[in-house]
Amino acid sequence: MPTPIISKRAPIYADVPNEKWNDWRWQLSHRLNSAEDIDKVLTLTESERTALNTQGLFRVDVTPYFISLIDPEDPNDPVRKQIIPVSEELNAFTSMMEDSLAEDRHSPVPGLVHRYPDRVLMLVTTQCASYCRYCTRSRIVGDPGQTFNRQDFEMQIEYLKRTPQVRDVLLSGGDPLVLAPKILEELLSRLREIPHIEIIRIGSRVPVFMPMRVTQELCDMLAKYHPLWLNIHVNHPVEITQELADACDRMSRVGIPLGNQSVLLAGVNDCVHMQRELVQKLTRIRVRPYYLYQCDLVEGSGHFRTPVAKGIEIIEALRGHTSGYAVPQFIVDAPGGGGKIPVMPNYLMSMSDHKIIVRNYEGYISSYEEPSEYKSHDPKTCAFCQNKRPEPGQSGITGLLEGDNMFIKPEGFDALHERGGLQHRLKDEAKWKPLGIGSSEPK
Ligand SMILES: *Cc1c(COP(=O)(O)O)cnc(C)c1O
Repeated sequence: MPTPIISKRAPIYADVPNEKWNDWRWQLSHRLNSAEDIDKVLTLTESERTALNTQGLFRVDVTPYFISLIDPEDPNDPVRKQIIPVSEELNAFTSMMEDSLAEDRHSPVPGLVHRYPDRVLMLVTTQCASYCRYCTRSRIVGDPGQTFNRQDFEMQIEYLKRTPQVRDVLLSGGDPLVLAPKILEELLSRLREIPHIEIIRIGSRVPVFMPMRVTQELCDMLAKYHPLWLNIHVNHPVEITQELADACDRMSRVGIPLGNQSVLLAGVNDCVHMQRELVQKLTRIRVRPYYLYQCDLVEGSGHFRTPVAKGIEIIEALRGHTSGYAVPQFIVDAPGGGGKIPVMPNYLMSMSDHKIIVRNYEGYISSYEEPSEYKSHDPKTCAFCQNKRPEPGQSGITGLLEGDNMFIKPEGFDALHERGGLQHRLKDEAKWKPLGIGSSEPK
């Protein structure tokens, strides 16, 4: 076992006994949320003080453990920027939206987002251990009056029971690991009773905000509901402490595969060299970098946005330069509910009917000769082809390739291109436009 070390503590916590510091309930009940409290740990800037004293700001709360990672003298500290609000949060920007991913539109029952063919996102609480300033769900997260209740939960379970194409349930929120242990276990066991649910996933920043919550007892409970996967959320190497490493070790040892999701944030982690260190440190604690997200177009996060090109530059600096295991997918979550779209540098440079031209990370350009004769497996005798899962309405580009569909076109396309009367055209154009341009209303 790794030797437990006493974590870095801000001076005001020097006298807190270890039993308290290492107790997650103490950490939760001693969170900081006002200018007055936070000023005792950091010297607040004018911008931070203004934001903290603004009514109606997205909720602020920071665990003593996490705030202790901040260098109090550095106003640009990467941990500080993630959790201490600044006045720029109050600024609007072009294309800003409340629900930029159109999750509410994809919810068949409250708190359940069914966007993809075989998996759902289940929002099980609105509460977190600390609140990220760039939260994509700030429209619901943090508000104690908006927690999901038992009735919602029963409706979610009912929907899942009667929707057999769902084989993967992703628990998020809010943070599922701040739920009372009994409630979390009830939720997991109810999901496990549904035979078609193959895997359960948890997305949680608790291990980062409050690694002491990841007790052996919690790990043993989670392990009863395998196969269970878990993604943590680390943005910067300073968040990888011995405590986080130990928490991840406990989860790995009970067989939970760990991944990491980061958000690309200006001034926090928009540096290729820092990203390389981050992903290498993650693999050392057996956490596989999964996604690096482009910042969503959500209220309050304008000052965190980077050009998409920054993400491509980061992937360029990782692929080939370090272990493939350490390279995340860079994802743009398309506004308006388009979902997650991977974006990466171009490696395929050109092609002819018998050759493709590729380049590697070093700029070495090579040709790959395609086989002159390709004898494919026989779909008619292939059991997998014959028994493929239907994806009603969502077969997409694969559906075009397989010949299930011949084209994908925007709604109103046929009417628009009909050589009918002008009246028709004008009427249909009005119908077509909002969908073609994007149906979420920018503020
Ligand atoms: C992110 C997300 C998922 C999971 O996506 P993966 O690419 O499978 O990790 C599922 N549903 C919704 C609504 C999501 O936003």
